[in-house]
Amino acid sequence: MTSHAESDPFPQASTGRRPIELLGGPPEETLIRIGAFMEARAAPPYRTEQVRAWVFDRRIRTFEEATNLPKELRAALDREFSLTPLEPAHVARSRDGTVKHLWRLADDEQIESVLIPTSDRLTLCLSSQAGCALGCTFCATGHFGFRRQLSGAEISAQFRDASRFAESEWQRPVDRIVYMGMGEPLANLEAVQVSLDVLHRGFGVGARRITISTVGLVPGILTLASRPEQFGLAVSLHAPDHELRASLMPIERRHPLPELLEAIREYASLRGRRITFEYTLIQDVNDRPGQARRLAGLVRGLPAFVNLIPFNPIPFVDWRPSSAERMAAFARTLQERGVQAALRTPRGRDIAAACGQLRLEAREPAA
Ligand code: SF4
Repeated sequence: MTSHAESDPFPQASTGRRPIELLGGPPEETLIRIGAFMEARAAPPYRTEQVRAWVFDRRIRTFEEATNLPKELRAALDREFSLTPLEPAHVARSRDGTVKHLWRLADDEQIESVLIPTSDRLTLCLSSQAGCALGCTFCATGHFGFRRQLSGAEISAQFRDASRFAESEWQRPVDRIVYMGMGEPLANLEAVQVSLDVLHRGFGVGARRITISTVGLVPGILTLASRPEQFGLAVSLHAPDHELRASLMPIERRHPLPELLEAIREYASLRGRRITFEYTLIQDVNDRPGQARRLAGLVRGLPAFVNLIPFNPIPFVDWRPSSAERMAAFARTLQERGVQAALRTPRGRDIAAACGQLRLEAREPAA
């Protein structure tokens, strides 16, 4: 049986050669390839810059859209290169303005991205894997298991296609990107790193506007720490001690809290960025006053901000979100101990926008 991880998202072209994905590598290499393609056809060098501008500034999905290029050149580009267009399988609109896209990939796998508009920003939540193998007990994606890794081009194309939607629908650019959708980004590190290059140096999204959210894969955190950019890092904690965390998130057994916190400390000091901790409050599971005190002790001394998110019930477990009083008391306990924390209002619940369930939270404070 062929595993989904091994399946090929891009079947061979009829020529027997696979088109090169323009969003599938560092933008500088992409430009060299386009330059070589133009040179081989004796096309003037300025055509390379025209193609770059169409791909990254105008965000085309097909070469047909590149109207200032000769028709034959567009056809040749189409044979040689792929723009990895995503097919929108479904668009769900929440009453609160959140929009979830379900994208169908070339091999029929489906992934989600979510646009979250607030008064001052438009955030896009991207998926990095189809499904997820890490099996967090509270997570719908985790319950469905792993399908396959996304390519760097498939991750980047979510940004291109969702931002086209946002611009035509709301005349607003996407100004924040969070890797917080389906999958664990640091379990697909190679493709995620490619997509970071494409988003940042290709599409020109500022590094400080991009956040990678992880359940705590230490090697991946250290790899990101060694990059020069100041990407944001968000870490899902959900429990202040080893036993409880291991029962909620199997990753805790592989990278226990002390090791995780050490890596986070390194990230914060090398990159000079405050770390966001995600903590979902589940009634009588992780929301007691003593647990708030332990959490404060854990993150004190780190440049940290704690997002407190009410649990979003899923069919697989019998938990409830914490009461408003418990949540407020939990936040107060953190704040009294000098830890910055805020209660977050989940967005798009009527369209099940939280594909990672515990990890997608609104950036607007609760009333
Ligand atoms: S919370 Fe994230 S890492 Fe855990 S199972 Fe869900 S998608 Fe995977």
